[in-house]
Amino acid sequence: MKCYICDKTIRKPQAYFGDEETPLEGKPVCEDCYCEDEPFVTVLHGRDDIRYIISETRNETDGDFRVRWHSTDPWRGYYEVKAKNTPWRIHPSF
Ligand SMILES: [Zn+2]
Repeated sequence: MKCYICDKTIRKPQAYFGDEETPLEGKPVCEDCYCEDEPFVTVLHGRDDIRYIISETRNETDGDFRVRWHSTDPWRGYYEVKAKNTPWRIHPSF
């Protein structure tokens, strides 16, 4: 099995898979790529102070939020964040 991002060979027990509602949903990735990719957005949940991130491989909101990339030209674009439940606040992550 090979990492979908960096092409490194990974043994099956060590494979990670992209979380639901991410661009790499269900794709095998290595631990480094899974844990270290840059978040698209940070979501502040209403009921606690934890910031949940959504990245290419991780969706810590368990699919309550999802992002879609919209390209405006070949080099630029933006992420649109969609929420299942509205009373959440959204912070862009830099
Ligand atoms: Zn990798």
